[in-house]
Amino acid sequence: MQQGQDRVFAGIRCTGRQHIGNYLGAIQNFVALQDKYECVYSIVDLHSLTTLTDTEELQDNVRETALDLLASGIRPEETILYAQSHVPEISELHLLLSMVTPIGRLMNVPTFKEKAKAQPENVNYGLVGYPVLQTADIVLYRANKVPVGEDQLPHLELAREIVRRFNNIFGDTFPEPEAELTSAPMVLGFDNRKMSKSYGNSLDMAATPEETFQAIRTAITDPQRVRRNDPGRPEVCNVYTLHGFFGPENQPKINSACRSAEIGCVDCKKMLSESVNDYFGPIRARREELSANPEAVDEILIDGARRARVIASEVLADVKDAVGLPASLPEMANVNA
Ligand code: ADP
Repeated sequence: MQQGQDRVFAGIRCTGRQHIGNYLGAIQNFVALQDKYECVYSIVDLHSLTTLTDTEELQDNVRETALDLLASGIRPEETILYAQSHVPEISELHLLLSMVTPIGRLMNVPTFKEKAKAQPENVNYGLVGYPVLQTADIVLYRANKVPVGEDQLPHLELAREIVRRFNNIFGDTFPEPEAELTSAPMVLGFDNRKMSKSYGNSLDMAATPEETFQAIRTAITDPQRVRRNDPGRPEVCNVYTLHGFFGPENQPKINSACRSAEIGCVDCKKMLSESVNDYFGPIRARREELSANPEAVDEILIDGARRARVIASEVLADVKDAVGLPASLPEMANVNA
C-alpha cells in the first residue's frame, strides 16, 4: 500500500451459496468498493468454527462463497480474495491482541450473549474471542476502512478500542480502522422476516429460473388481498418492494394494476421472477463457467492467500517487534535440521 492510500478489509462468512439479501446488502457493495480502494476480502472459515461442530462442508462452502463473489464481479487480479485459514499469521496476531483485550468487555458484546444463549452446550472460548479475531482480520493488513452498516458500528468500535490499547501500550503500530458506512437495504424474506439462510426464507443468487419462481411463489403479499379481485396495497407488500430492487421500471405500472386488481399476486410474482432472472442471468452464467473449473477457483484463493501473506508476515513482524518478541527466529525455525 502506498503512503496515504486507503485499504479496505471485509470478512465474508462462508455460509455456502449466498442469497439475494447477501447480494444487495453486502456483495454488491464489495464489488463497488474495488473502484475506489485497494480491497482485501477474506472468506472467514475460522470464524465458522465457533458455531459449527459439523465441518464436513466447510471447504465446499468456502468455494461456493468464492464462486458467488467472483461471479458478482470481485476482480482477483487486483483485489486480494482468500480463505482466512490459509493465512496462519492471523492466529498469532489474534493471540497477541487477546493480551490487550479486557475479558469483561468481550463478555458484554450483545452478539456473544445471543450466541451463548443459542448454543448453551457450546459456549466456547472462540465465541468470546470472536471480536478479537475480527480485529486481527482487519489490522493484519493495516486496513483503515471497513465497510459496515449502521448496526455493526459497535463491533467496529470494539476493534478500534483494541487497536488504541495496543498502540498505547506498545507504540503506534496500527491505524485505527474507520467505518466505510454503507446504506444497504434490509431485504425481507418470503415470510416477511429478515431474509436469512437460517430462516429458510431466502433465494440463492445462483438459483435456477424455476427455483426462483418456486421460491417467490411462496412470498407473503398484502394480507387483505384475499381474492383475486380484491384491490391490493403495494406499500405493505414485500413482493412490490423486491420489484424496486430488480425491476424498478415496472413499479409504476404494478402499483396501479395491483390497486385496481387488474393483476393478481401470482401475475406480480411471475413478473418479479422474470426480473430477478434477468438481473442475475449474467452472474449465474459466469458462475456456471467458473464452477466448471473448481481447480481454477482454488488457485485464485491460493494466489490471494499468497499475496495476503506477504502483507501479513510484514505486519506480524512489526507487531512482534513492538511487543518485545523476536520478529523472526532463523536458527530455531529449522528444528528438524
Ligand atoms: P444470513 O443471515 O443469511 O446467515 P449473513 O449473516 O451471513 O447472512 O450475512 C452476510 C452479510 O450479508 C451481512 O453482513 C449483511 O450485510 C448481508 N445480509 C444478510 N442478510 C441480509 C438481508 N436480509 N438484507 C440485507 N443484507 C443482508
